[in-house]
Amino acid sequence: MATALLDHPLKNGPIAVAVPGKFYLDLYYNSPTPVAVGARVKVTLRNKPCIGIVLSHGGAPSNVTLKNIIEVLDQTPLLDAATLKLLRWASDYYAHPQGDVICSALPSLLAQGEAATVSSETQYSLSDSVTEATELQLKRAKTQLALFTLLQSGQHLSSQALRQLGHKPAALKSLIEKGLVTSEQFPAQCTGNPQPTVGPSLNAEQQQAVNTIDSAAGSGGCFVLQGITGSGKTEVYLQAALATLARNQAVLILVPEIGLTPQFISRVRGRIDAPVTVLHSGLDNKQRKDNWLFAQSGQARVVIGTRSAIFAPIPQLGLIVVDEEHDPAFKQQEQMRYHARDLAILRAHQAKIPIVLGSATPASETLANLQRGNYQLLKLTQRATGQTLPTIKAVDLRSQQLQDYLSLALINRIKHHVAQGNQAMIFLNRRGVSPVLLCHECGWSADCPSCDSRMTLHRGQYRDLLRCHHCGHSQAAPQNCNSCGSGNLLSAGAGTAGLEETLNRLFPDQTVLRVDRDNTKNSKALHQALTQAAAGKADILVGTQMLAKGHHFPKLTLVGIVDADAGLYSSDYRAPERLAQQVIQVAGRAGREAPGEVLIQTHMPDHPLLQALLTQGYEHAVSQLLDDRKQMALPPYSFMALVRISHRYSEKAEAFGRAVATLCKQIQPNATVLGPISAPMARKANRWRFQVLIQTSSRSERSALLQQLVPAADQHKLASGVRWSVDVDPLDLF
Ligand code: ADP
Ligand code: ZN
Ligand code: ZN
Repeated sequence: MATALLDHPLKNGPIAVAVPGKFYLDLYYNSPTPVAVGARVKVTLRNKPCIGIVLSHGGAPSNVTLKNIIEVLDQTPLLDAATLKLLRWASDYYAHPQGDVICSALPSLLAQGEAATVSSETQYSLSDSVTEATELQLKRAKTQLALFTLLQSGQHLSSQALRQLGHKPAALKSLIEKGLVTSEQFPAQCTGNPQPTVGPSLNAEQQQAVNTIDSAAGSGGCFVLQGITGSGKTEVYLQAALATLARNQAVLILVPEIGLTPQFISRVRGRIDAPVTVLHSGLDNKQRKDNWLFAQSGQARVVIGTRSAIFAPIPQLGLIVVDEEHDPAFKQQEQMRYHARDLAILRAHQAKIPIVLGSATPASETLANLQRGNYQLLKLTQRATGQTLPTIKAVDLRSQQLQDYLSLALINRIKHHVAQGNQAMIFLNRRGVSPVLLCHECGWSADCPSCDSRMTLHRGQYRDLLRCHHCGHSQAAPQNCNSCGSGNLLSAGAGTAGLEETLNRLFPDQTVLRVDRDNTKNSKALHQALTQAAAGKADILVGTQMLAKGHHFPKLTLVGIVDADAGLYSSDYRAPERLAQQVIQVAGRAGREAPGEVLIQTHMPDHPLLQALLTQGYEHAVSQLLDDRKQMALPPYSFMALVRISHRYSEKAEAFGRAVATLCKQIQPNATVLGPISAPMARKANRWRFQVLIQTSSRSERSALLQQLVPAADQHKLASGVRWSVDVDPLDLF
């Protein structure tokens, strides 16, 4: 208690308060009652009550009379000093108003002012009627006995906790009926696993990696754990986590949204006796608040979460793991456009703790940092299970007869692999039956009425639909051309559903299973499909990137990448890097238990990136890309920010863009400012879109520029009716 008071002194008088909204200067209030930094207070703002967070004591300008706050909501801080520091840094770096950043770090119920206490839940424990004879009485009922034995430790556990530990609801019900177990309401608890299993003993590379990470416990350091899928990275995370927990420190594991599968969570829970909690977008508000409080209070010792978990306060944090660090899902694409991996590196640096970036395909910026010696490389070169890597080959599509984008070469290899009783996976990163509907007579195509974009054809049970993937507009597909009236309409290009049809036709005796966002709308459907696939219940899998990550398909030996050209032709400077990553990621799916093979279909088999990738491997290929970027002064050799602007009227959007560009040049004459130019998709959902690209030669130059630009642009007379945002370190340029 004494140290708590020392850490968080309570003071009354002037305080700076963070409130949600676009405020570019600190707001000050007077607190008649003592309050701690990081606690919530209720204040009036523009005559309305609102919840804010205390940023500091004192510091108010002396010439103004301060309004009193209405109420202090927390006696102890909700956000600790380290978290506040990280949030303020993020607000500066990503040029987003501080109050918004800080207040949105709270789960919504806490941001709305609910008490910072966990909700109550029903918990089960042994009743008083248990005697020495009870155990004997249960001898024949194995599942009941197991549950009984667990509860003999005296624990009170919720039905959810029991399920997580592998106990059956039926066993619980029987014990309750026999009067051996009673239930009571208690505040929800974050429980650990009293019977964790022991993992495999590590191979030399894994052990070396764990030792290196562990030896950085006192000093910190950024470690890149590079190893293909199946090389045992997760085992390294788990062992490094256990070592951290043994020092009484906590662990944060960040995963991309798609990586947070029930299998991953139960694998961690199965191995770790300390309480584990999860933070992700699939939680309801109450769960989110409870889990966040478990992390914040230190009850949870391991926090697994998707990108926003980087802002969770975690006392005594001792290790951060970022799994699949190259994944674009770590970048938030709305509000504050932060990159959770980058913030994780900063957070680890500030806390002087080790951070592990795991990937088979480290991002270009991570490789550049390795080259500069900022990070340390830990490599896992073997598959933990002893399997060799699949062979990767390009299939030249030029002047080939294609069956809905499938070459004869690929079809023959599918035949070969399924004939051996193995699985094949056909990978395509598009949705729908076919991207576009074309008139074969006049070339008309079905465009979205509100965007500069073609609509996608979706085959329905009763009728076909055209859908815009950018604004969501959908309409029935026409029977005749809108322009010349011809009935000769073609669907061009391949999609997963079209491929599924073709494969069903070519392989009538095999089971074809499609996994993409269209047929797995919820995570339960996805989980079911993947379980089916993993159990070998399908011979041919067709899917998008959802198939590419994190799942273990023992029988999969052939991967076909249908269309590599999109990545090779694209105007986006990051597209080739993404293609290289995808090729290696899907290759990692093949041959985990038997020798595998990867075929990449392309019209450009001689493309330098593809050649480098096939003959020299991923790092060489990306090194080449980095050389190109260095020559062209592209990130990570320069620092970018993209201002995106939209308005219902094109002239107004462009005029505001011109104002932004002028402001940029006034503030920072050294910066390169491109634009305003029309966005690659000039119109979206009836708004005209422009962008201004800012490039500087240093981070500090960019940050100084944005700090002045954002408030100035916000108050600009041309800003009315304009929607605009700043994207620092943009991942894509549209
Ligand atoms: P990654 O995270 O790199 O994909 P995992 O850690 O999931 O790899 O390991 C792949 C498989 O190999 C898992 O089933 C894991 O239990 C097993 N494994 C990992 N390390 C070892 C080891 N040293 N000995 C035996 N099996 C291992
Ligand atoms: Zn036509
Ligand atoms: Zn549209």
